Amino acid sequence: MAIAITLTMMSIYILSILSENLYSREQVKMYAKANIIADTLSSYSSLDAAEEEDISRILAGTTVRGIITNSAYMVLVDTAQESDIEGKVFTRDIIKTALSGEQANSLDRDSETGMNTMAVCVPVKHGDTVIGATYLMSSVSDIDLTIKYIQTSLMVFSVLISILVGLLSLGISYIVTAPMDEFINAAKEISKGNFSVRLKVKGRSEMAQMAETLNYMCSELETLDERRKKFVSDASHELKTPLATIKLICDSLVTQEEPDMQVVKEFLGDLSDEVDRLTRVIERLLALTKLDSGNTTAKFESVDIVVMLGTIVRKLTTTADAKEIVFYAELDEENAQPLMLDYDKMWEAIYNIVDNAIKYSPEGGFVRVSLVFEEDKAVVRIEDNGPGIPEEESERIFERFYRLDDSRARDTGGTGLGLAIAREAVIMHGGAIFVEGSEGIGSIFTIELPYVHD
Ligand code: ADP
Repeated sequence: MAIAITLTMMSIYILSILSENLYSREQVKMYAKANIIADTLSSYSSLDAAEEEDISRILAGTTVRGIITNSAYMVLVDTAQESDIEGKVFTRDIIKTALSGEQANSLDRDSETGMNTMAVCVPVKHGDTVIGATYLMSSVSDIDLTIKYIQTSLMVFSVLISILVGLLSLGISYIVTAPMDEFINAAKEISKGNFSVRLKVKGRSEMAQMAETLNYMCSELETLDERRKKFVSDASHELKTPLATIKLICDSLVTQEEPDMQVVKEFLGDLSDEVDRLTRVIERLLALTKLDSGNTTAKFESVDIVVMLGTIVRKLTTTADAKEIVFYAELDEENAQPLMLDYDKMWEAIYNIVDNAIKYSPEGGFVRVSLVFEEDKAVVRIEDNGPGIPEEESERIFERFYRLDDSRARDTGGTGLGLAIAREAVIMHGGAIFVEGSEGIGSIFTIELPYVHD
């Protein structure tokens, strides 16, 4: 629309300038002719006295129709072949103006042919007296035809340009809005919980980058969703197992008519163990939930990690002694630096790993806890000579509910959540946790904690 309006206005402007220019040039030419004739006639003191033949001779050179009137509007000569106005009074506004001493012109439109006729009239003066008027008249059809031709060309040009621009705009708007539609549909699918949607990425435009980002977001959401589903199903399974055992114990007690007190006590002991296991799973699940809410719930404070490790080692010494494990700590107290830690969360993380080392080490084995302060981080190592962890499992053991040897781990009271809790806590502190060591020889768990973190 904007282009069409602009082109129309431009065409009108060009046409008006052009027609004004062409008409005024024609007008100048006609005035020049009329003035030459009027000059020649000015030698007569009265046009009525002049011979008609002489006046006709003077007019003979003009290619346009010429009329000479005397000062009383009477036509003396008319060059038109079949003129019927000679000797008659011929009144026109421009003749009136000329007889009053001024030159004048007019442009009249023939209503039948639609063509314009241009007329100019100049006074014929003898001295200061106006003795008559020279009236020249010419059809300006050439100019009209030229203007009409240019007008048609401009119209055709404007229509073509408008159509072209219209089609281009439609094309461009389609190119721009088509991916937008795709985005909107994808967003609707995501809001319904369908994270498997992917957009086509073509080229390197902003749209393509947005599509890439959306795809990345979807794949992250998909992974999160899968992890959430797996977590819920694993957690339900973990809770169902002790509940099933409790139900079994209760049923077998109920079905015994006169149960032996000793048996009842044993059953109650088993019940208590299962309740303990349930409590442990629930406590660890709660701990994980807290860690999942990230830094928002963290309370970072300056902590002396040497003291923290000392407390953990003291607390677990009894457990290690019970298995006759050589349990000792080597802490670099000299270079100690305070760390910004959430005390409770880090305490639980390290405690879980040291507890595991004792739990999975054989009787009479060894567990060593060491701490060194490097340039930009503190490194805690927990070594044992337990069954070790196969290299291919070294990542998976940090997953929630993942156990290497399911039945053995369950027997040791494991929940499969200790390492997951430890990893979440270490990540929250901007640190890293990994395990090395070979199967059958033992494992080394390493926790790296940077002095400064976000
Ligand atoms: P759990 O409560 O079962 O010990 P964790 O998350 O603490 O759960 O550990 C996950 C699994 O990793 C354990 O089930 C065990 O198979 C393995 N694991 C952890 N620590 C050790 C270790 N020091 N030596 C050998 N295996 C270990």
